[in-house]
Amino acid sequence: MAVSACNTNPFLQEWDTPYGIPPFDKIKVSHYIPAIKAGIAEQQAEIDAIVANEEAPTFENTIAPLELSGRTLAKVIGVMYNVSETDRSDALDAVVEESIPLTSAHENNMSFNKALYERIAAVYNGDQSNLTREQQMVLKKHFEAFEREGIGLPEEKQARLREINEAIASKTQKIGNNILAESNAFKDKFGFSVSAYPEKMTSTADRALRKEYYEAYTTRGHHGNENDNALLMVEVIRLRQEKARLLGFENSASYTLSNKMAADPATVDSFLRGILKASTAKACEEIADMQKIMDEDVAAGVLPAGSKIEPWDWWYYAEKVRKVKYDLDDEEVRPYFHMDSVRNGIFVCAKQLYGVNMEKLEGVPAYNKDCVTTWKVSADDGSLIGIFTTDYLPRDSKRGGAWMNNIRDQYVDAAGNDVRPIIVNVGNLSEYMNVDDVQTVFHEFGHALHGLLTKCHYPSVSGTSVTRDFVETFSQFNENWAFQPELLAKYARNDKGEVIPASLVEKINNSLKFNQGFMTTELAAASMLDLVWHETMIPEDIATREQATEFIDKLEADLAKSIALNPEITYRYRTTYFNHIFCSGYNTGYYGYLWSEVLDRDAFSIFEASPDGPFDLTLAKKFKETFLERGGSEEPMTLYKEFAGREPDSKAFLVGRGLL
Ligand SMILES: [Zn+2]
Repeated sequence: MAVSACNTNPFLQEWDTPYGIPPFDKIKVSHYIPAIKAGIAEQQAEIDAIVANEEAPTFENTIAPLELSGRTLAKVIGVMYNVSETDRSDALDAVVEESIPLTSAHENNMSFNKALYERIAAVYNGDQSNLTREQQMVLKKHFEAFEREGIGLPEEKQARLREINEAIASKTQKIGNNILAESNAFKDKFGFSVSAYPEKMTSTADRALRKEYYEAYTTRGHHGNENDNALLMVEVIRLRQEKARLLGFENSASYTLSNKMAADPATVDSFLRGILKASTAKACEEIADMQKIMDEDVAAGVLPAGSKIEPWDWWYYAEKVRKVKYDLDDEEVRPYFHMDSVRNGIFVCAKQLYGVNMEKLEGVPAYNKDCVTTWKVSADDGSLIGIFTTDYLPRDSKRGGAWMNNIRDQYVDAAGNDVRPIIVNVGNLSEYMNVDDVQTVFHEFGHALHGLLTKCHYPSVSGTSVTRDFVETFSQFNENWAFQPELLAKYARNDKGEVIPASLVEKINNSLKFNQGFMTTELAAASMLDLVWHETMIPEDIATREQATEFIDKLEADLAKSIALNPEITYRYRTTYFNHIFCSGYNTGYYGYLWSEVLDRDAFSIFEASPDGPFDLTLAKKFKETFLERGGSEEPMTLYKEFAGREPDSKAFLVGRGLL
C-alpha cells in the first residue's frame, strides 16, 4: 500500500515533463507535507550512510555524497516556496507554516551531527592538494557552516547556543508580526500601503499631511503599544552578541562578516563613511535646489515666510526639481516600454553579449497558466543552458517586490549528467513600464543570467550561491545596458513600431543621476545603522521598554551626528521597523547592496573604457567565463582581480551616482 500512496505524489516520482519542469498541473496542496517528510527521511538515510562508511573520510566518500543528498527535499522546497510567494492560498500558507518546524528540526539534526562533522573536519584538515579549487571551496563551506553553528563547543555551551537560536527565532518572528501590524495600521489610517509611501510623499501637496505621513511612517514599531519593537530588538541584539562571543568573535558584526567579501567591521565602516562623505555633500546641493522652489512657494503665499526643507518635504520638492531639470515624464516614456518589448530587450542584449538564445515553450506546465511564460535557453551550439520563466504582472496572490528564484539548481549528478537550472523572474510591474520598472527587469535578469550560465559541479556553490555582498553585483551590472542607445534602438518601440526618440533617451540617461545624494545617503545611513547595532553591546540594566526606547533613540542620534547625516534626511529604515536586519537575514548585510554596486560599476567602467564600449564582446566573454559561469567556486576577490586585473575602485561608483 505504501508504494501506491507514493506513486500518486508527483514529488516522489520521476518527472517526465519537458526538461524536468515541475508538473505543476499535477501537484496538489496535500502533496507537500508527505513529500517533505519523505524527503527528510531520504536525506537522513543518505547522511547516515555517509557517517556509517568505514573507509577513511575523503572528499569523494563524504562531501560529494553530502552535496548530492536531499534531492527530493530540494525539489519540494523549490516548488513550494516559489508557488507560496507567487500564487499563495490560505491552504498553501498553512502548509508552509506546518513545514517550518519539520525542516528546521532536520537542519538542526544536520548541523549538530558530530559524526558527520568529524568526517568533514578530517577531510578539511587533511591534504587538499588533490582537490579542484571548486572542491576546496565546497569543503570550506561545509566545514565553516558547522564551526559557525558551534559544533566545536563543549556540550553546555552548545545547549546555551540552541537556547539563544530559539529565543532569537521567536523574538524575530514577533518583531516581523509587529512590523506587519504597524504597517497595516498605517494603511488603515491613511488608505494607502507603506510601499506607496514614496509615491504619496511625492504627490501630496498638503505639507501638514505629508508631515503626518512621515511621522507615522518613521515611528512604526515605536508607539509604546502592543506592537512596540524597542525592547524586543534590544533583546535580539543582546542575544546575537552573546552568540558571537560564545563562538569566539568580538561581536555579532565581526561574526557575520568573517565569511563575507568585506571580512570585518572596520572595512565596512570605512567603506560606508567614504560614501557618506560624498553623498551628504551632494545632498546639500540637492537641498539648495529644492529650497529655491520652496522659496517660490513662500513668495506665492503657499507657505509661510522662513519655511525650510524638512524630511517630509524631500520627495515632493525633489519631484519638482526633476521636472524642471530633466523634463522627464513617466507617461511620455511608458508607450515605448511594453512588457513584451522590454523582455525582448533583455533577450537581445544577452544574445549579443553572451550568445544566449531564447525559445518560447508552449504547453509546458506552469504554476499560473495566465501569467507565466516559459523559455528554453540554449547556447549557440544548441546545448541546453536552462529553463527561464517570467511572471511580471501583479496579482493578489503574489507578494510585493521583484525577485529571481531557482526552482532547480544547476549541478552534476552522480551519473555525471549536467542538470541544468530552472530559473524564475517575478515582478509586480506595469504592462507599460516606467524607467524604474525597466531597470527592475534588467536587474532580475542579471540574477537569472548568473543562475543560468553557471558551469559548476556542486549545487552548494553553483549559480547565485555566492556571498550576500557579492550577489547583487551581477543583477546591478546588467542594469547598465537597459538604456544604452544602441540597445534601445532594438527594443524600445511603441505600438506603432516607432523607436524611442533620441531626445527622450538622453533625458532618461540624464535623469538616472538625479537625487542620488539623497538616495545614497539614506541607504548608506541605514547600512551604518545596521553595522553599529551589531557592534553594540547592550548594557545589562536595559530591561524595560522605556529604557530600550531611550537607548535606541540615543544610538540613532549619536550615529547621525557621527556620520554628519543631513537633518533633512532620515535613515531609509529606522531601527524599530528595520525588517531586513531583524527578520530577513540581512543583519550586518545591508551594506551589501552598495558594496556590490562598487564592483559592478567598476566592472562596467572597464567596458566603457573599451573602444567597443558596452558591447565589447571579448570583455563580455571574459565576464561570463570569470563570473557568471563560476558561481561561488572561487573567492569573490580572486574572481574580481582575475577579471579586472586589479582590486575594485570606488571611483566609478561615485561618478555613476553623480557624487563625484
Ligand atoms: Zn537583486
